[in-house]
This record gives sequence, C-alpha cells and structure tokens, in this order.
Amino acid sequence: MVKYVANMHGDEAVGRELLVYLAQYLLNNYGKDERVTKLVNNTDIYLMPSMNPDGFEKSVEGNCNSKGDYSGRENANHVDLNRNFPDQFYKRTNYLQKGGSILDGRQNETVAMMTWIATEPFVLSGNLHGGAVVASYPYDSGSALPCCVESKSPDDELFKYLAHTYADNHPQMRTGNACSHDVFQGGVINGAYWYEVIGGMQDFNYARSNAFEITFELSCCKYPTASNMPKYWRLNKESLIKYLEQAHIGVKGLVRDTNGEPIEAATIIVHGINHNVSSTHRGEYWRLLLPGTYNIHAEAWGYRPSDQINVTVMSGEPSIVNFTLTQDTYDDQGKLKSNEVEEFIRPIDKYGFFHNTEFKHHNYIAMENYLKELNLNYPNITRLYSIGESVKGRQLYVMEVTENPGKHSQDKPEVKYIGNMHGDEVVGREILLLLLKYLCENFETNERVTKILKNVRLHVMPSMNPDGYEIFKEGTIYGVRGRANAKGVDLNRNFPDQYETNDV
Ligand SMILES: [Zn+2]
Repeated sequence: MVKYVANMHGDEAVGRELLVYLAQYLLNNYGKDERVTKLVNNTDIYLMPSMNPDGFEKSVEGNCNSKGDYSGRENANHVDLNRNFPDQFYKRTNYLQKGGSILDGRQNETVAMMTWIATEPFVLSGNLHGGAVVASYPYDSGSALPCCVESKSPDDELFKYLAHTYADNHPQMRTGNACSHDVFQGGVINGAYWYEVIGGMQDFNYARSNAFEITFELSCCKYPTASNMPKYWRLNKESLIKYLEQAHIGVKGLVRDTNGEPIEAATIIVHGINHNVSSTHRGEYWRLLLPGTYNIHAEAWGYRPSDQINVTVMSGEPSIVNFTLTQDTYDDQGKLKSNEVEEFIRPIDKYGFFHNTEFKHHNYIAMENYLKELNLNYPNITRLYSIGESVKGRQLYVMEVTENPGKHSQDKPEVKYIGNMHGDEVVGREILLLLLKYLCENFETNERVTKILKNVRLHVMPSMNPDGYEIFKEGTIYGVRGRANAKGVDLNRNFPDQYETNDV
C-alpha cells in the first residue's frame, strides 16, 4: 500500500490538484499503458487530495504566500497540522505518565491521519506541500540546533535515494534553485537540516508505522492560478509515478507458522539498520532496501526467531524472502522460554521430571538411598540431616532444599513438610520424595521452582514414623497395623496439648 497526502497546509494547493490529475491519468491509462497497468495491478494506491479541506476553503487562488494570520495554512482551529503529531524526540512523557492520552490536544485531522497510518500497512508515502521546490527527507526533528544540522534516520541512504527518485525526475527540482530564495543541493535536503519541524507527519510515519514518507515541496508559489496547473502536471508527472514504483524495491514476503497460517505483527529485522517493519494480518511484509546484501530474520511473540537469511537485493524487482516460524514451547506454568535457554535444558516428562521416575513405594532402605542419591547429585541445594532416631534406631531423615542449604538467612523463611507420621499412611511419604526430586531437577530451569529455592528454606521429612511403615503391608485399606510407632503409641496423640491439665 502506498499513499500520497496533499494539502495538509490548506493554502498549498498544487499537490491537491495534481493528485486528482494523477488519479485520472492512472484510470485513463489502465489497460492501455503497460507501465500504468503494471503499477496499478501490483500496488494498492491511496490518494488523498486534501488533508485540510477547511484551510483550503479559506485560501485564495493566486496567493503565493500564506496570509498573515496563517488562516488557510492551518485548520479551522488555527492549528498547523504538520506540528500536531506525536514527536519521537519530544515526548510528552510527564503528561502521559499522569494518565494523559497520546490523542489529547490533537486535531480531528491529525487523529484521523494517525489512525489511518497506524492501522493500514502503508509501505511508502509522499506528503505534498508548496512554497519551495525540494524533496525533504527524515528526520524533521531531533537535531541539536534549529537548523543546519542533519538529523539522520537509520534509513538515511534509502531516504536520500527516494528523495532523489522524485527530484531527479523533476526538471526544476533537480536544479536545486527553482525558487529565488532557496538553494538545495540536487533538489533534496534532510528535513532538520533545512529547519526543524517538531510534531510533523513525515517522522510520525517512519516512527510509528512501516511507511517511509518524504515531504515534497512542489511550487515556489503556494496557490498559483489554475492556468499554471498544466505546467505543474508536466513537471511532476514522471516523479509522481516513479516514486510510487519504489514500493517494489527491497525485500518482501510472508511470515507464516508451521501450519502455513499467517503471523500478524511479526518483526522483520535487517541487521545493521536499526529500523524494523512488521507483518500485516495476512502475514505480508515489505522492507524497502537499496541494492546490496543483507542479513534478515523475523521474530514474533510466541514463536522462536527465524534463522538469519542472507539475501541479495537487486535494483528493480524485490527479492522474496518467506519466513516460517516455529511456535515456542511453554513450560508447565505457561511461561515462555527464550530460545537461548531452551537449547541448554533437557526436555521434562509429563510429570515435570528430567529423569524418568519410577512410581513405587520406598521402604526405609530405599528411602535412605533415594535421599542420599539426591544429596549427592544436588549438593549445592540439598542438605540431608537427621533429627534423631526411631524406637528401632532408624534415622528420622530431613532433607533441606534451598539455595545455600544449612545457612541461615534473615530473608528466607523456613518451611517444613512432615509425612508418614502414621506409618500406614504412605502417600505423603512418597509425594514428599517426589517433591524433593522435582525441586532438585527443576532448579535454575523452572522459574517458579528457582524462585522458591532462592527465597525459602524448605525442610522435608518424608517419614516421621519409619518403624510403623516397615510393618505395614502395601495394599492395606483398613486396619491399624503400622499406624503407631514400634511401642504402639500413636505419635499424633503423644504431643503436649495446649489444653491438657495435670488432672487428666
Ligand atoms: Zn506545507
């Protein structure tokens, strides 16, 4: 998609008429003239003859300069629309932080244009003005001084080429001295070098959309009499068409997922040029580039970045580079892993373990081995200790799991889990063993686990009653064998009770 927008300053009237002529010319010659037919068939052309119709109505034919009060140049609210756009270098940060909207203070015409520019996938744009004869390219703002210092965009070379495309094909513009008061080398100039424009539409296009826009000043006299218009058409006809044809330079293609579905808003990154373009809802993109060799890749949220593609751009037809992006994998909490991390970690199984887990019951010997093995494999985050012995002399093992175990930290609360107090209630015992394994295996690869182990000292006692467990038979549903300890005492009735009195 390409666009020409004219008459933003209501009293600069040449572009307004030229766009009507251009529309007529394209329509009259479509299907007859090969070049026009090709251009119209391959290009979505939008022509806006007047962006400031109110200002135009106040302007006077034959007036070469703006009126003293700028009515005509400005819109009906006396606002210069080419100073009314958000500026990338002069942001109203404080205002926006206090809850203001980026649209506050913008004129109707500006808001309509901002919306149009931001929502339609324009590739190339021309902004037609008057009062000089020159092609002025970005940036318009961002230079240190009000004039005579260039403010270069990352696509400076491309913009120069585009500006020259128009100027070189314009018999007066290319001389650089069409009007008595100005001299422009080759008929082109960096906008900020000429004079700084803050809040202009040209920079807004580049900063906020995929469109590359250049400002074309078409006549020394802003609103020449109608009798001059054939001359202006002759001067600008080739430039107007040639410029539109530049929408087809560089690289274009589609960004799709592995099912062939288009990916919207994928970013196309050209290495060495700090300005990206994005894909449309159909997955299409166009990246205007000068002839040369480039490394390009595509990225999209939720997908792994594509490989870098080395592409040679020739003049004339665009090079086609299609990207297929693979959906990024999600871990068990739905957190996106970056590509880099994923390459270093092993896949986890459906239970969240890296090493296959045998789901079985662990008697005392098996449990002891299990805990010692974990401690051996994860010495930096585990500490195995015993708080004492059972009646039968079995260790009452506790495993501390945390970053830097065994060290007190005032920032880390301590938490404990106790399992298997009743020797015949075994699920908790096994679940705690699995939890220990899960925490150890996922530390530093799983964000949530890592956060827990960095911030909590967790003490896990899989079995408080190992003696009871040993006499219990797997598969038992009813019965009390194994519930108590080796002396037949229910440990969960053996603690001092806060309501206990000596009388009872
Ligand atoms: Zn203007």
